[in-house]
Amino acid sequence: MSIQNEIQQLSEQLENYNYQYYVLDEPSVPDAEYDRIFQQLVTLEEQNPTLLLANSPTQKVGGLALSKFEQVTHQLPMLSLDNVFEAAALKDFMARAQDKSTQANIAFCIEPKLDGLAASIIYENGLLVQAATRGDGQTGENVTENVKTIKNLPLKLRGDNIPDLLEVRGEVFMLKAGFDKLNKKLTDAGEKAFVNPRNAAAGSLRQLDSKVAASRPLAFYCYAVGVFDGELPNSQFARIEQLKAWGLPVSEEVKKVTGEQGCLDYYQAISEKRPDLAYEIDGVVYKVDDVALQQTLGFVARAPRWATAYKFPAEEAVTIVENVEFQV
Ligand code: NAD
Repeated sequence: MSIQNEIQQLSEQLENYNYQYYVLDEPSVPDAEYDRIFQQLVTLEEQNPTLLLANSPTQKVGGLALSKFEQVTHQLPMLSLDNVFEAAALKDFMARAQDKSTQANIAFCIEPKLDGLAASIIYENGLLVQAATRGDGQTGENVTENVKTIKNLPLKLRGDNIPDLLEVRGEVFMLKAGFDKLNKKLTDAGEKAFVNPRNAAAGSLRQLDSKVAASRPLAFYCYAVGVFDGELPNSQFARIEQLKAWGLPVSEEVKKVTGEQGCLDYYQAISEKRPDLAYEIDGVVYKVDDVALQQTLGFVARAPRWATAYKFPAEEAVTIVENVEFQV
């Protein structure tokens, strides 16, 4: 097969997986298999830049806003994250960020990579007024009524100096215990169980009937600020602390770390803690802490240059199974 055909075939394969995962909330292969094919395509495109397709899955955010929901245009695009799969690649990422700074030993904000789906939530004058899914990064689905039912998310912020407009971004996910209970309830009722907590969260959030969403054990953690007016600290870690002070839920595992070894130690420590966490994580996200340096580093097509996800190795042997009875 020619390289051009191979690129075409891998792109189509990924598009199909994207449709099943993002639109139907029913993946047909484990994430590790998806990631393997994605990396294969990235490598071929890097080796053959003239063959890069304009609509390649490596150049865009994977989702789609379904027309059954009202559409929301994001004022700032909601992007994906680049991935690394080994310590050497993480070190390269850190070195590239360090090169753009005049300071010695830049700091990184390190966060668990929550395994759910991204949402943008807008507070006006401290009140939750709109929530949307990421969709294709530009346009998401209006899921305000469903998000309002998430129990750990405040409808009203508290504290001082809350911006009149504040968009928080974070992950809607399902606690492991809630997921097990929900699947038992579904199978007892003769209904189809969800493949994993990520798909359960996505399927529950993207319900037209907010009563169904309200009955599902969804939770939310913030990990970023989108648009806002007023003043916010110039540090990712300090921003997370500020969101927490306004009553927004954030993961207790977020840390600010300087130096390569500290970053690798965090990965090791959270890998060991992972089975005991109440929620699923599929890796660690490393973000340049200094927001001004983030702006200098900027973005590539689908992801910021100032952040990367270091994914955990797949937990099980990768097998493609029909009708999605696999664990990831
Ligand atoms: P991603 O999941 O690799 O990374 C981006 C996402 O990470 C963000 O949108 C956000 O939702 C999430 N995230 C969690 N914690 C975060 C934090 N602390 N800070 C910032 N973001 C955080 O990228 P993606 O574009 O959402 O999805 C691609 C991945 O989804 C693939 O690598 C694959 O694992 C999976 N996928 C699987 C299939 C399949 O068929 N199995 C299909 C499509 C995608």
